[in-house]
Amino acid sequence: MTWNEVIRLHIADVTNQKQAEAIISYQIHHDALTGLPNRKYLQEHLVEVIEKLEDKEKLFAVLFLDIDRFKLINDSLGHNVGDLLLKAVSDRLKSLLKQGDVMVRWGADEFAIIAKDINCADAVVQIAEAMIQALTLPFNCDGHELHITTSIGASIYPSHNTEVDALIRNADMAMYRAKAEGQNSFQFYVPNMQEQSFQRLSMENNLRRALENNELLTYYQPQIDLITGKIVGLEVLLRWKHVSLGSIPPSQFIPLAEETGLITAIGTWVLRQTCLQAIAWLNMGLPPIQIGVNLSIKQLQQKDFLSCLQQILEETNLDPHFLELEITEGIMMDNVEEKIVLLNEFRQMGIQLSIDDFGTGYSALSYLKNLPIDTLKIDRIFIEYIAHNAHDRAIVASIISLSHSLDLNVIAEGVETQEQVDVLRSLGCDQIQGYFFYKALPADEIETLLRSQGITRPNRIEPAQ
Ligand code: C2E
Ligand code: CA
Ligand code: CA
Repeated sequence: MTWNEVIRLHIADVTNQKQAEAIISYQIHHDALTGLPNRKYLQEHLVEVIEKLEDKEKLFAVLFLDIDRFKLINDSLGHNVGDLLLKAVSDRLKSLLKQGDVMVRWGADEFAIIAKDINCADAVVQIAEAMIQALTLPFNCDGHELHITTSIGASIYPSHNTEVDALIRNADMAMYRAKAEGQNSFQFYVPNMQEQSFQRLSMENNLRRALENNELLTYYQPQIDLITGKIVGLEVLLRWKHVSLGSIPPSQFIPLAEETGLITAIGTWVLRQTCLQAIAWLNMGLPPIQIGVNLSIKQLQQKDFLSCLQQILEETNLDPHFLELEITEGIMMDNVEEKIVLLNEFRQMGIQLSIDDFGTGYSALSYLKNLPIDTLKIDRIFIEYIAHNAHDRAIVASIISLSHSLDLNVIAEGVETQEQVDVLRSLGCDQIQGYFFYKALPADEIETLLRSQGITRPNRIEPAQ
């Protein structure tokens, strides 16, 4: 029987107006499914709790608890199972409450708990942990064994706020942060969280839209051969031209893209854009040039990365020999064997491979000989003081000689001065990339540069006589 029916029946036969009012009030303040008080009750009750607490030194906490991926259960097993689970979760949580504590159903799969008589923040942590623990035991709902995890956030009165709405909002925000940190976790509200989470959320949305609105651009930084002084390669560096925030550097959005999984779509876009640009330059009669694209480890973990890459090359018709993929030492952190197989497949397609930021990551010196790579890029931190620091010079000298003994091409990154160029030349470095020559430039400026090198190819190859 639903609460509506109960009320109708009662109202029908109770003549006592007071009783009817009590029942209506119960319905307004309670959730029909779990029988728990609802959000209206929580707000009103908190006002009362705060009024009564005044002059006392007691603390209390508002905890927000949410079942991770509840929607998945609801969508895949049906609302009936979802309802049974909510009821079971509420029963299990109720059994953990101390006398005087209050639990309400805040929303679909969200519960809020007021834990009273708290002496310190640690007590709140213990309550949250007990709840997380209790809910890890499986639930049996209509024959389905369900394993769930939960995220809990909490705010404490008075340290995190003294206003009812703010206490609730802060606990809710803390819960979202717990969710972002991973499943089965707990977080306290921290001041500034609002700002942080708002910034993150709006940045994430902005980035999502950046792709659709063509706000991302590919810039290209030339790589110079130290013997001939000619541009022999380019590295693609992503730029985000935001309508109101201006130019946002990749260091500020690539990590976010990696965290949110957006890197997959962005990385695919960069690859396609690069291949299209390379073909466009060829069609303008410019000489073919090798172009390096930075790959995130997340892209290599993408199951269909290889087929996606093949498809882009086929679609754009770019000769894979002109494409270079830049990978960091980080890929050697796990599943090394698997990664080597993948790298070999790239190689077999004709793609060039380079190790980026060499020397900053997981030391791959011993791995170098096992890796199917063509080029090693020495990170800027070793180049910065190379003209003045003998130690850095010695490191770079040994990286160069080791690379050459392994038949690898060496590029020094972040070269800014003539002195650095001179030292690198004396050490036998092959190529140089850095502001001393060029910053990353838009495609049209690269076109002018390549033309001025005077090695344009005839547009049409005349048939041999
Ligand atoms: P990176 O691959 O090490 O790229 C080199 C960075 O050093 C670039 O910064 C470049 O502009 C900068 N740089 C080049 N020469 C000099 C120099 O002489 N002095 C100094 N101080 N800096 C120099 P940028 O463009 O801000 O890129 C930063 C990082 O963002 C890149 O580091 C790369 O890890 C990542 N990134 C850029 N584009 C992409 C992309 O399309 N996909 C992925 N996954 N990552 C990208
Ligand atoms: Ca790079
Ligand atoms: Ca680099």
